[in-house]
Amino acid sequence: MRKRFIAFTLLFSSMLSGISYAANEPTEIQTDIPAVYSATTQGKKAYVSKMEIYLDGEQVKPTAYLISVDSYSAYTYFKLRDLAYLMNGKDCQFSVEYNEKTKQIIAKSGEKYVPNGSEMKASSSGDQTAYETDSPIWLDGKKVDMEAYNINGNTYYKLRDMGEVFGFEVSYKDSSRQAIIRTPSYKGPDTPEESQPEESKPEETNPEQSQPEQTTPNDTTTPTPQPTPEPVTPNKVDGVITVLIDVGHGGSDPGAGGTAPYDFFTYQNRKVSAGGGIYETDFNLPVALCLRDLLEASGAKVIMSAETDKTVTFSDRKKIIESNADTADMLISIHHNAFNGNASGFDILAQIKYKNGGDGLELAQSFEKQYLEDGRKRHAPTTFKEGSNGDYYAILRYAANVDLLAIISEYAYIDNVNDVECILSNEGVEREAKAMHDAILDFYSTHEY
Ligand SMILES: [Zn+2]
Repeated sequence: MRKRFIAFTLLFSSMLSGISYAANEPTEIQTDIPAVYSATTQGKKAYVSKMEIYLDGEQVKPTAYLISVDSYSAYTYFKLRDLAYLMNGKDCQFSVEYNEKTKQIIAKSGEKYVPNGSEMKASSSGDQTAYETDSPIWLDGKKVDMEAYNINGNTYYKLRDMGEVFGFEVSYKDSSRQAIIRTPSYKGPDTPEESQPEESKPEETNPEQSQPEQTTPNDTTTPTPQPTPEPVTPNKVDGVITVLIDVGHGGSDPGAGGTAPYDFFTYQNRKVSAGGGIYETDFNLPVALCLRDLLEASGAKVIMSAETDKTVTFSDRKKIIESNADTADMLISIHHNAFNGNASGFDILAQIKYKNGGDGLELAQSFEKQYLEDGRKRHAPTTFKEGSNGDYYAILRYAANVDLLAIISEYAYIDNVNDVECILSNEGVEREAKAMHDAILDFYSTHEY
């Protein structure tokens, strides 16, 4: 096989953001734009966001709602005026004015924001209704369209979109429970607690997943200070990598179950009230579809065991693996875990042939590294579990039998209300899929395919 490695060329761009920029237009033509606040009739559920927001290391409390925008998306939205207020005095400050006559939102970068008293109000509690709205912002005379929602007369935008437009950096930590905003010149920690290392917790045992006597090169189970993220990141493969995505469960088999910590819409738009049941299938397929899109955008080929929520039996999966063994370079099986309601963190299960090293262990470590960098905690070291015919886990065994590299990813415990929160929003699902994508490309930067 010809030796190929991924060239680190392009930076991952925000293919999932909803911003579009018009060409540079003179301010004079601004009167032509349609009226803002033209809400459509179909409202969507909006919940008070539980996300913690940190700006340049300090916690701030802008008004924020989690809006279930469609069957696959629940995003956190913020008020433009709150962000303008918070950025006052920072190097990326900007002014915001609403022109009643022209119905335009006018923003100017570098200018001080003049508050109008509406800023930083507590979010109205209880379910709100969000209406999709066409509210472009005219920034320095240039029209910028961002996905926007109107709640109680105010326009809300995605934080990451606003960051891209106004020049501040947005990232998510602690499995999307925290949003970190950094202005360009800020060099300090992300949060006030960050300099203090966390105490390491005793590892929970899970007879189904972990194997106490195993020896692996993994050193710790709880990452204390996070490794400094490398400046690199993936980006482009040449269309030769083929990834087989095995979507765990589906159809009549919902997989592991847990309870929703608050009212929540699944990505299939199933309403779950606080305390109601949520299942692996609510997450496995959305993550798989998102991973597929990310991989394809990076030039990889993807084969899916299912693209809809349908029953796929183990014998179906075996056939899919066998019929794609020659084409696929690896198999990623997507699951979410459950144990005793208290277990938390991720588990990666690898094929026993790699117990002492090699591609399977290295692929697992590549996933673990990305998950740790995302603030996820490790539940157990890379798990290799032997069964009567080789690998205990059927998917890993079927793949090993046809010499296909495979791992199973269990990103979170859905029966632990604190752990599952990391994937209850679409930011969390995208983040999980993005970590998988980066892990795969990272792996192929040092391995032949
Ligand atoms: Zn499962």
